[in-house]
Amino acid sequence: MSKPIESTTTVPLHDGAKIPIIGLGVYQADVGEETQQAVRWAIKHGYRHVDTAALYRNEEDVGKGIKASGVPRDQLFVTTKIWNSAHGYDNTLAAGRESLKKLDIGYIDLLLMHAPGSSTVSTWQAMAKLKEDGVCKSIGVSNFGIHHLTELQKATGILPTVNQLELSPYLQNREIVQYCHANGIVVEGYSPLTKGRKLNDPLLVEIAKRYPGKSTAQLLIRWSLQQGYVTIPKSSKEERIKANIDVFDFELSQEDMDRLGQLEEHLVTGWDPTTSPWNP
Ligand code: NDP
Repeated sequence: MSKPIESTTTVPLHDGAKIPIIGLGVYQADVGEETQQAVRWAIKHGYRHVDTAALYRNEEDVGKGIKASGVPRDQLFVTTKIWNSAHGYDNTLAAGRESLKKLDIGYIDLLLMHAPGSSTVSTWQAMAKLKEDGVCKSIGVSNFGIHHLTELQKATGILPTVNQLELSPYLQNREIVQYCHANGIVVEGYSPLTKGRKLNDPLLVEIAKRYPGKSTAQLLIRWSLQQGYVTIPKSSKEERIKANIDVFDFELSQEDMDRLGQLEEHLVTGWDPTTSPWNP
């Protein structure tokens, strides 16, 4: 029998590093105190992982929140991402170093290519160099479809540790997930709460009633975990940040996992660059 998952559970990456199974997302957390406070609250309530990006413009605040938390750097895991406007070898080298400068936390744990673009291969080669130089410990991708993954692997021979993509019962991306799992790429799900859009779905509300004290948001996070995904719910509110990690004392039954599995409706809450390279 496999070990039950806990808030401190980590998932091994193929390069030897380990990623905490749950993290705080900070997309649309405001620059300044809002992000710093969210990071401090998250760490206070047991998170050890924060997911930011150059695009979110709050890397500096994530770094400040981390430093103010009092938890040693080596117990925390920080992801940031190379935005599409910084694709290409030299641009990516500069962007990765700039992100680390803003974060100011010694190293980035996981550097992701935010999405496939026109210079995916040279961007990826620069990310490998950033790893070699100690700017980051691991490199991965985000929003990659199967063809993006195979093309990258064929051109560079360097397998991403992680593919971060939108995942919820309403958008299951089953083929990409299967491909990643079969090829040793950890699947990380973003927008696990559907950006709040489905939290009042009557079916979710009904299932939640079977788990006393648990909300539909907690149900969705638990679904992600039981699917085997690393998950990164976002909130800027302390009570929600706390509730979103309070999901390790219950388990969705197989019957309820099956019911949730039937909710697929290709609900993309932000963007979906997995189907083709994204060109702004
Ligand atoms: P989520 O699915 O995490 O939903 C966040 C929304 O839900 C916010 O409006 C939040 O509001 C609300 N919320 C949070 N917790 C609760 C709760 N317990 N009850 C009710 N409402 C709640 O959306 P995101 O798109 O932010 O995804 C999470 C993270 O994934 C991002 O922050 C980012 O780090 C990453 N991401 C990556 C992308 C990529 O392209 N690689 C794209 C999108 C996201 P409030 O803050 O007011 O609580």
